[in-house]
Amino acid sequence: MTGQDSGRIAEILVRLKQSIPNPAMELDFHSPFELLVSTVLSAQSTDKTVNTVTPALFQKFPDPVSMEKASVPELEKLIRPAGFFRRKAQQLIGLSREIAEHFNGVVPNTMDELTKLPGVGRKTASVVLAYAFQIPAIAVDTHVTRVSGRLGLVKSVDPEEIEAELCRIFPKKEWIGAGSRLLLHGRYVCVAKKPLCSSCVLSALCPSKNLP
Ligand code: SF4
Repeated sequence: MTGQDSGRIAEILVRLKQSIPNPAMELDFHSPFELLVSTVLSAQSTDKTVNTVTPALFQKFPDPVSMEKASVPELEKLIRPAGFFRRKAQQLIGLSREIAEHFNGVVPNTMDELTKLPGVGRKTASVVLAYAFQIPAIAVDTHVTRVSGRLGLVKSVDPEEIEAELCRIFPKKEWIGAGSRLLLHGRYVCVAKKPLCSSCVLSALCPSKNLP
């Protein structure tokens, strides 16, 4: 990284902090288990939709022990609005069983253990680490991928390589905040179609501004 690059990256962080002072998680949750389940449900869905199904879901199945014993049709019915409900129901039962049987019903807090749970990849594990346990991690989703690429922070389009590169260029103490802010910036400003470059706080630092 050149001095110019590190200065630009630091300035990107400063501006993102100013424009998004409190980068809140938009999924509702009260425990690591609830966040894990909500994150699984959010695949190919929206946080808003997931938040409409989880209150009834967690009332019925508040922990891994109860969810692993769930009747499949009942679970499918509860999560149906989030889409891909058959596959997600199997995933939730599978990961609940694993947590109940191998982790005493407690969601683990390491990347290695989380990614051994069925259907849990690095993105989901990073979300749980960062938001439920406040352990430094950067969750690379479609928004983080797009914004990082447009800003020229990364060259790869592979999520694992992007995660490794972002973890390299940002100080560890900034990982959670930087990842959250890149995601929110991508969700609301640097959107996929017609990004809002004219009102973007990063436009002076962005090699992709005003691209067609
Ligand atoms: S200037 Fe445009 S392309 Fe660059 S980060 Fe901002 S919205 Fe995205």
